[in-house]
Amino acid sequence: MSHTIIEPFRIKSVEPIRRTIRVQREQLLRAACYNLFLLPADDVLIDLLTDSGTGAMSTHQWAAIMEGDESYAGSRSFERFRSSVQDIFGYKHVIPTHQGRAAERILFSVMCGTKKGDVVPNNTHFDTTRANVEFVGAEAVDLVIAEGRQPSLRHPFKGNMDVAALEALIQKVGRERVPLVMLTVTNNSGGGQPVSMENVKAVSAVCRKHRIPLYFDACRFAENSYFIKIREQGYGQKTPKEIAQEMFSYGDGCTMSAKKDGMANIGGFLCTNDDLLAQQEKNLLILTEGYPTYGGLAGRDLEAIAVGLQEALQEDYLEYRIASTAYLGNHIAAEGVPIVQPPGGHAVYIDARAFLPHVPPDRFPAVALANELYLEGGIRSVEIGTLMFGAAAKMDLVRLAIPRRVYTQSHIDYVVEVILEVWKRRDQIQGMKLTYEAPFLRHFTAKLEPEPAEVAAAVRR
Ligand SMILES: *Cc1c(COP(=O)(O)O)cnc(C)c1O
Repeated sequence: MSHTIIEPFRIKSVEPIRRTIRVQREQLLRAACYNLFLLPADDVLIDLLTDSGTGAMSTHQWAAIMEGDESYAGSRSFERFRSSVQDIFGYKHVIPTHQGRAAERILFSVMCGTKKGDVVPNNTHFDTTRANVEFVGAEAVDLVIAEGRQPSLRHPFKGNMDVAALEALIQKVGRERVPLVMLTVTNNSGGGQPVSMENVKAVSAVCRKHRIPLYFDACRFAENSYFIKIREQGYGQKTPKEIAQEMFSYGDGCTMSAKKDGMANIGGFLCTNDDLLAQQEKNLLILTEGYPTYGGLAGRDLEAIAVGLQEALQEDYLEYRIASTAYLGNHIAAEGVPIVQPPGGHAVYIDARAFLPHVPPDRFPAVALANELYLEGGIRSVEIGTLMFGAAAKMDLVRLAIPRRVYTQSHIDYVVEVILEVWKRRDQIQGMKLTYEAPFLRHFTAKLEPEPAEVAAAVRR
């Protein structure tokens, strides 16, 4: 018989969380100008703002931290870090960075910096990836398959790249204007959806044919490997590590945020097989990040990542991880709550336009819904929609990102309860209006207020 999937760990150290009452939360929201980024974290009961750097480390990671070698050059911790990365990723050069975006900045500066008109295809660029591509004057093009753009449609590998569209783009702009192709595993901005091995191979074949390097945005490589194991024919008997090794073998390098499947609170890295590029990348690294054996991290951080990468690939952990995200998604979907289907690896995304059909996109339905979830139960989530992307937003989503190894099933049951409570009174939820916005990345600092009831009623009519 098969048993219930349980958390494959027990808790040795606990961190209290604080309940507030509704009137307090009303005041707190007002003080934060209805922007959940501006709330003090102490006033949040369950924090699902992000899964980045918010995970719990294991006893093995804490033990490794005590072994951190803080030598400026040639640190023993760097050797451990590099051998753990190479064991999984297989690339020749491993360059530590303080976060994923530092790896991105260095990669695109070196690969796209020189000539104008460069184009970088990706299944879907993450926001920092897009910003770093555009910062060096190149164009970021998203080529996810059509199924990946429809929230309610089910597909096992909704993160796949449209291979025909990639081939057509290369034909159109010419091979010399495409310095690299990127695949984001899993596709974070597209709902945490995985990419199949078949798709990786097909994209790699197109790249090889045109002699274009293929790089992975590898932040959630372990979750992606597990989805391949359970959803793709021929991989059921392989370990997640074997699957990850095969996947990376089809590429030439990667960028990585260790705050995701590195199971660490900070860190990242850049890998490449190309000796010349590695030299240029290390030169840039020294300029702003640090010497190539620490790259802006402490020796103890390198130790935590070395252990964390291996733990992220443990099968019982991944089974629990994917099951607990699906548990949240399936329970709210069963009651009619519209979500991006199927639930992703690290997060559940609520379709706020379908949840609040009476609130038009320019009244920020996902911001309104995120505020209600906080008001109802002290839960913090994040808007991915019109506030974040302006009029270019194709969807208005509320992302509930699950920190790794942090919350138990009863916490998740509570989140389900709160969402269903808000779902029952969805008709009464009003839109929001902006009172302040910064010129770029406005979602972090925007100020809003609920729109007056009579305006909301007029909009509805
Ligand atoms: C988080 C993330 C990044 C950036 O990593 P940081 O460590 O936050 O700088 C890049 N790509 C994807 C897909 C991510 O999820």
